[in-house]
Amino acid sequence: MTEALIEARALAKHYPVPKRKLLEKRSVLRAVDGVSFRIKEGEIFGLVGESGCGKSTTGQMLVQLVKQNGGELVYRGRNINGLSVKEMKELRRDIQIVFQDPYSSLNPKKTIGWTLEEPLVVHGIGDKPARRRLVAETLEQVGLDPDFASRYPHELSGGQRQRVGIAAALILAPKFIVIDEAVSALDVSVQSQILNLLKELQQKRGLTYLFISHDLNVVEYISDRVGVMYLGKMAEIFPVGETGSELLHPYTRALFASVPDVSARKERTTLQGEVPSPIHPPSGCAFHPRCPLATDRCRTTAPELRSVGPGHEVSCHNYEEANVTT
Ligand code: SF4
Repeated sequence: MTEALIEARALAKHYPVPKRKLLEKRSVLRAVDGVSFRIKEGEIFGLVGESGCGKSTTGQMLVQLVKQNGGELVYRGRNINGLSVKEMKELRRDIQIVFQDPYSSLNPKKTIGWTLEEPLVVHGIGDKPARRRLVAETLEQVGLDPDFASRYPHELSGGQRQRVGIAAALILAPKFIVIDEAVSALDVSVQSQILNLLKELQQKRGLTYLFISHDLNVVEYISDRVGVMYLGKMAEIFPVGETGSELLHPYTRALFASVPDVSARKERTTLQGEVPSPIHPPSGCAFHPRCPLATDRCRTTAPELRSVGPGHEVSCHNYEEANVTT
């Protein structure tokens, strides 16, 4: 495989759970529990899973908004935990994030122009006229008139605010952007405009994305490969649209079978039961209480994520059987 732009190696984020009783044993919430994946330069890597599976925490660790307490994060071949303050400042130019609700990250008292110009000031980029030009160009690239620089966040529609959120992520000319549920709150027609804009920008600027969403249709539309998380772990990583790369993990198959439009992936398995608590995850394979193919081995031994084809990895003892049952 080509060298990864960014790589998560057994990345983990565990939170201590406050004790409710004095003699109670301290518990740990395993939000992300040893997740590994590589994203190639210019690739769009989708990340999906049910609510609480750890996908957003994983994205936030990749942009260092949340510090991992296990594993390594490697960017362009370097472990970023060992970077100096100066190197980390440089890295922050390269790695950006677009949130679901850009409104919360926009200062309501400041104009859009101020919001977009501020990171340029922090990083000492250009003089005032040059920064203003860059703000105007970036607004145009996200489909907004440069006049939007003088507007305030409350004067914008949801779609316009998301375009500003994208402009804010682009202004420092990053290489890698985490896009976290960025179209989830938008109307369907606006969603497709924003998705097309993201695709166009990715191609024009050679960007690399981690695209996080609970919407499987959206993720399959935009991604080159998709990672499926379950209870803080990676269940499967598969290439999109590759013939011969069938979904293999019983959880992935059931998840995609539940979506009407992902017809090519329909099969008989349906997802039963609730996601267990990440404070008390099941032994062995965390999916075993819900899995129709679970065996005794699954209840005691956690499967490793292993390569099963180009760009395709699966974490299941019985994936070959899963492929036969359809
Ligand atoms: Fe199901 Fe066992 Fe595979 Fe886990 S390892 S997904 S329980 S078959």
